[in-house]
Amino acid sequence: MSGLPKMELSKDAVDFIDDGYLIQLLSGPPPERQQVRDIVAKSLNKQALSIEETAVLLRTNEPELLEEVFNTAHTLKETVYGNRIVLFAPLYVGNDCVNDCIYCGFRRSNPLAVRRTLTPEELREQVLKMESVGQKRSILVFGEHPKYDADFIAEQVRTVYNTKNGHGEIRRVNINAAPLDHEGYRTVKSAGIGTYQIFQETYHHDTYSRVHPPNTRKGNYLYRLDGLSRAFEAGCDDVGLGVLFGLYDWRFEVLGLVAHALHFQQRYGVGPHTISFPRLRPACGVDFPGLGSVGDEHFKRVIATLRLAVPYTGLILTARENASLRRDLMKFGVSQIDAGSRIEIGGYTEKEEKQIADREQFELGDTRSLDTVMGELLQDGYVPSFCTACYRLGRTGEHFMEFAIPGFIKRFCTPNALTTLMEYLVDYASPETRAAGEERINMELAKFEDGPVKAELEKRLNRIKQTEDRDLYF
Ligand code: SAM
Ligand code: SF4
Repeated sequence: MSGLPKMELSKDAVDFIDDGYLIQLLSGPPPERQQVRDIVAKSLNKQALSIEETAVLLRTNEPELLEEVFNTAHTLKETVYGNRIVLFAPLYVGNDCVNDCIYCGFRRSNPLAVRRTLTPEELREQVLKMESVGQKRSILVFGEHPKYDADFIAEQVRTVYNTKNGHGEIRRVNINAAPLDHEGYRTVKSAGIGTYQIFQETYHHDTYSRVHPPNTRKGNYLYRLDGLSRAFEAGCDDVGLGVLFGLYDWRFEVLGLVAHALHFQQRYGVGPHTISFPRLRPACGVDFPGLGSVGDEHFKRVIATLRLAVPYTGLILTARENASLRRDLMKFGVSQIDAGSRIEIGGYTEKEEKQIADREQFELGDTRSLDTVMGELLQDGYVPSFCTACYRLGRTGEHFMEFAIPGFIKRFCTPNALTTLMEYLVDYASPETRAAGEERINMELAKFEDGPVKAELEKRLNRIKQTEDRDLYF
């Protein structure tokens, strides 16, 4: 590790991933039917599963039982989580990187990558463009480089919040960047970040060492595994986990994610806010054999199993996947998607149609516009939402509250989804999307019982339609 800066760990940092144990859990005989059904029933009760129980679901290969797992994920989505889908768009700030992750187009040894960091003015231009189509939530993405330190990240966050465009504003800025030390997390928190995401990429130690050279910062498995524990200790309790599917056995990785979520729950009393499950994509200058190793059927199992295992965690399905697969996978409990995304540095303003390979980290599968995705979601019976109320009101652990506190969704989530949808329809939507959206809002209103919540909601929806008032959150 010589030449690398000091890498601070959390108090009592521990490597809680025991590869041998996880492999052993997955190599048992096929489980009894009843055992699987008991675990499925537990999930329907919104109880988190242990890694042992999750492994039982993953060891099942019987088509009938798998169908029950998918149906349960679908039922949970319909009856517990409801039809809201939160929308966001990533904003890539800079692709300089000191690491050499062999699967990534930004890796330092990639001679084809064109290195670039947005200037403050360029950042503002990207934000204005995103706001001009109706984006309200973004995640800022950075390579790992000394110049992208906590102060720099905080500065970018402030710039994004301060850049307004008529009714357009980004109201929640999440971060996907390198792990920080305690001081760094305090710095980014003071800039008002939402979720801090760090993907472990793979929980399997040998694979981790193989794809992250040991003489790099990212080569330190424990430092990364512990990254979000330091965030918790520094007061950032809104964190996101993830695995890059395709690096190692997908079943093992699902257990790693569940183990990580349980670790947070045990240590800090709350689980992760979100889990992401990016799948490996082709990238410029990358020749990695894992491409395509997790097929669509297995990917569907990843999502359904996570939905059953971690009831209070939001699931993010990114635009790495193609449009028709996203449409299908949404059913199994996804709660957030990105739409209208561009991942080239400067991509929101500089090129409209084609992806620019040498400035992006990987290829996107779904490059449709936000309006097109909104239209499809509405057609499929979803309520697209840009809600940012909870974190702005200090209601942290919102995903937990949504599902654990009776009536929370009716009182807060649905009204906020509908008011933010109405803002989109009035300010940005195409005529077809607007018509579909207004119809959806009326259908949702019809489900409310008469009373003060409904009356107030109707009042605010009308205010948005008839006046310049915006951001009327509950
Ligand atoms: N540099 C920081 C890091 O590595 O944590 C943060 C940003 S990195 C640009 C965001 C994520 O993109 C990585 O954590 C990884 O999971 C994912 N990624 C990298 N290469 C990819 C590829 N070829 N296909 C799909 N996702 C990829
Ligand atoms: Fe750098 Fe992140 Fe890409 Fe690794 S995944 S090379 S750390 S940008």
